[in-house]
Amino acid sequence: MAEGVFDGFGHAPLSTLTWGRPDERAHQPGFVAFDGTTPIDGGNPARMVFVMHAECTFLPRELASLHALGMGLRDEWALAPYGIDDATDAFFERRLVPKDFLWLAADNLNALVWGLHDWAHFHNHGPFEERAMTELQCDVSALVWLLMNRDAIGLAGDALDRVIAQMKTISKARFESEGKPFTAPYFDRRELEKLCVAHVVE
Ligand SMILES: [Zn+2]
Repeated sequence: MAEGVFDGFGHAPLSTLTWGRPDERAHQPGFVAFDGTTPIDGGNPARMVFVMHAECTFLPRELASLHALGMGLRDEWALAPYGIDDATDAFFERRLVPKDFLWLAADNLNALVWGLHDWAHFHNHGPFEERAMTELQCDVSALVWLLMNRDAIGLAGDALDRVIAQMKTISKARFESEGKPFTAPYFDRRELEKLCVAHVVE
């Protein structure tokens, strides 16, 4: 944790994120099985959206069914995909707990990883003056959660290693674009496992 990156580090206590993905047994039109092989890229993740389960008039919204397919969603609202930064600011300013408002719909690995990354943003507010370092800390949070829940997700070992390597490439490019050295040791399964242990001990 680099000093000064966040002005509200952990302002909301870390909490459970409910994740939904299409279920074949629900027989919903448009069903597509969870794809655990999608590469992690830095673009806007397709088929990922935070669905609202409480009144969120302070957030930009769109119909969840535009982004989460095959899940039986009809008139539920979701955080507009362009509104991640708005939500990060609003949760901090209002000191709200994200899980009281949102759950994550994601039907592929890339979507799930960026959903976890954004979930970390929602709990830690930063002025975004150090973009690469801010993003790095959200990347590492996402990877730790992925590692801790790999069995529930159904992630094969090599899929996890692939995600770690792809996230490292993205992070390194961010530091290079800022002309800063990239020294993060966390894109390594052993280092991430240490963070999992530290988390459990706490
Ligand atoms: Zn981010």
